Amino acid sequence: MPIVLDYDDVIFDTFKKLIKFYNKAYREWFRKEHFIHADFKKVWRITREESSARFREFFKSTESASIIPYPGSRDFIRRLAMRHELHIATNRPEEARKETIQLLDRYFKGMFTDVHFCTRDWGLDHFRKKSSVCREVMANIILEDHPENVIDCAMDGRHVISSRPAME
Ligand SMILES: [Mg+2]
Repeated sequence: MPIVLDYDDVIFDTFKKLIKFYNKAYREWFRKEHFIHADFKKVWRITREESSARFREFFKSTESASIIPYPGSRDFIRRLAMRHELHIATNRPEEARKETIQLLDRYFKGMFTDVHFCTRDWGLDHFRKKSSVCREVMANIILEDHPENVIDCAMDGRHVISSRPAME
């Protein structure tokens, strides 16, 4: 049975590293409790373009390269992959493919059938929804943390297993 999983803050603990990078690079003091929106640029009070530029810097940073999986996620996914066809659907931009695959290969080598990117132009062009990825790979189940993607997939009839957003 095909199953789709989100990448950031579902299998990888990205949020902590992102905030660490952001505060250091832009001399800010954001803490977890400041994140009252899942849309981070509203918290950071910056434009779409600026947010895209800052994510681009993040994906090239040492913090991003040192993201690690959540405790237990490797073992869980290894066992899941024995019985099911697993796919990643991510709102990371296609331009971050190399860095994204590198971490997957380091921790989850051979466990995923494919990685589906939903944005390009460093996130400025959101060219597909995760519900369309689910349809394409014929997955009825998705593990996802972002509220917008949860709603999109649930409205499309998928079973959504939703972890709490990382900032909660
Ligand atoms: Mg996520």
